[in-house]
Amino acid sequence: MMNHDASERFPFPDAPFASIENIIAYDPGGRNVFGLVIPDQLRLAAQSLIGARRVGVVSGLFLPHVGKSETDGPPGAVAVAAALTELGVAADCLTDVRNVEAFRVLGVEPVTNADDYIARAKPTHFVSVERLGRTRDGAYRNMKGEDVTAWHDPLDALFLEADRKDVTTIGIGDGGNEIGMGRVFAEVLATIPHGERIACTVSTDFCIAAGTSNWGAYGLVAALSILSGRDLLPSAYEVANALTTLVQRGVAVDGVTGKSEATVDGIPLATTLRLVENLRRQITPSPLQRREPLCVGVLGYGETGRAAAALLLRRGHRVRVSEVRPLRVEDIPGSKTLDAVETGGHTIEFLAPCDLVVASPGVRPDAPIRNALHRRGVPVMSELELAYQMCDRPIIAVTGTVGKRSTVELLDRLFAAVGRPLTIGGNKGTPLSAILLQEKQTGPIALAVSSFQLETVVTFHPRIAAILNINEAHMDRHCSLAEYIRIKSRVYMNHTSAERLSNVDDPLPCPDTLILPYDDPRLCSLSRKNRGRTCYFSRGRPVTRGAWIERGALYMNMNDHTHLGALSPDSPDGEPLFVENALCAVLIARLSGFDDTEIREALKKNQIDTMS
Ligand code: MG
Ligand code: MG
Repeated sequence: MMNHDASERFPFPDAPFASIENIIAYDPGGRNVFGLVIPDQLRLAAQSLIGARRVGVVSGLFLPHVGKSETDGPPGAVAVAAALTELGVAADCLTDVRNVEAFRVLGVEPVTNADDYIARAKPTHFVSVERLGRTRDGAYRNMKGEDVTAWHDPLDALFLEADRKDVTTIGIGDGGNEIGMGRVFAEVLATIPHGERIACTVSTDFCIAAGTSNWGAYGLVAALSILSGRDLLPSAYEVANALTTLVQRGVAVDGVTGKSEATVDGIPLATTLRLVENLRRQITPSPLQRREPLCVGVLGYGETGRAAAALLLRRGHRVRVSEVRPLRVEDIPGSKTLDAVETGGHTIEFLAPCDLVVASPGVRPDAPIRNALHRRGVPVMSELELAYQMCDRPIIAVTGTVGKRSTVELLDRLFAAVGRPLTIGGNKGTPLSAILLQEKQTGPIALAVSSFQLETVVTFHPRIAAILNINEAHMDRHCSLAEYIRIKSRVYMNHTSAERLSNVDDPLPCPDTLILPYDDPRLCSLSRKNRGRTCYFSRGRPVTRGAWIERGALYMNMNDHTHLGALSPDSPDGEPLFVENALCAVLIARLSGFDDTEIREALKKNQIDTMS
């Protein structure tokens, strides 16, 4: 029944499974979820399910102190079962008697007698969503480490039995105590609070870690949607309805806060709706692909909003602008070219007719207008994503906590020194939309890209992606190191292993390449989650592929080993991270087609090379 090497037959090499895996690992609770993600499990699990005949979907966690189920689990389980049914696969929801009502109010009559289920129903697969599995001492424990064995039937026995009977198993969890997380037992022990008490020992063939288990289930449904070519995800309205019904009918509460609210693990409903709509963007074609004039809403009319609107108009689309500032319409630049304008706030009535809405960075992720657009099913994208979808020049994206802008500016000087074309911009510079408005530009575009921008990208696929560094100082905003790294890694999520045919006209003649700092093991390990090629830079050690400094001298090893001269350890303006920036820029130059002579010349003209 196992289907581990289906990848050879896989027909969609560019399908966004890695991106979906990344989105569902969104970790506002800072549980180190991204650290538990095993790459590619989502795709393999979905591929296996596509060939299933009958699937038992196990879920439900009873909270003894409130006498109700928790909101995480059943909505996701019901979504998986519904998607399978749509695909013609028989699916049963299974739970224990304490959680029956949590399924009934969602319109599903669950199986509660697990005895002989395998013999009776002859399932080919089991899926667990947020169902606890036994720990080392045989007890079942919640995330606080409390023993809940007396209130929890041992349904994980089905998974242990499945293993002996050749039934394929999939475990979805968000904390390490759930069925399936035995696959990442060591990581749970090492990184999850109370790991030694709660870590589940039950392993599954495929293991999906997510920020909440419902999200993991929606991610699995999104993966099934890609494989079947159909949008099987519940609508934002259905997701909201399931959670509010569970709470309003008094059968479930939030498992973390214990409150009777339509939240999951303390996370607001709006966050879940946004995540589901992000997943939908991954599995449905962008409206821009229709190649016909669209009606596009621009939410927020600051610098990026104006650039996006101008680009859209240039490409023949109609634009409606919604601006929160109480401006007079006649004071809005270019207002005569716009289809319609509202000022002093955003209303759903104004934006609902749009084919798609572009949200400016100033519009908060949890803004009520975004929520309203999600519920209406209007696609929302960022300016970077919009411009990327309209861009036909290759992109170099540089991210990191510090130095991304100086690296891009240095790159600009290196290219200029040898007369190669390059356009630069980024989060604090020129927005990509504005770059695309400039006439007669050629060559690649190098962008400094912030975490904020990366959080919302969908198809963004820079040919070269560089992550310079991470700094603990930003931890407060992103909750945890794992979460910060997850967001940064979105810069290369759409990379593929495809070798690019060498083409003399290609302004960026290299395959998808990720550049990482070799001296930071936390970032270096991202190469395991990269499907493209990885290069490294190091301040002191030789690397197998990349650039490094050794005793003041600059070396590069791409296919051959080259000594390129001496790199000055101090920048003209004394920036402390200058060497790393320079190494990264030199690597990008080489990947862009610079030969040794050009690199030496570019360094020398910029007074970076002190010896040659
Ligand atoms: Mg959990
Ligand atoms: Mg949970």
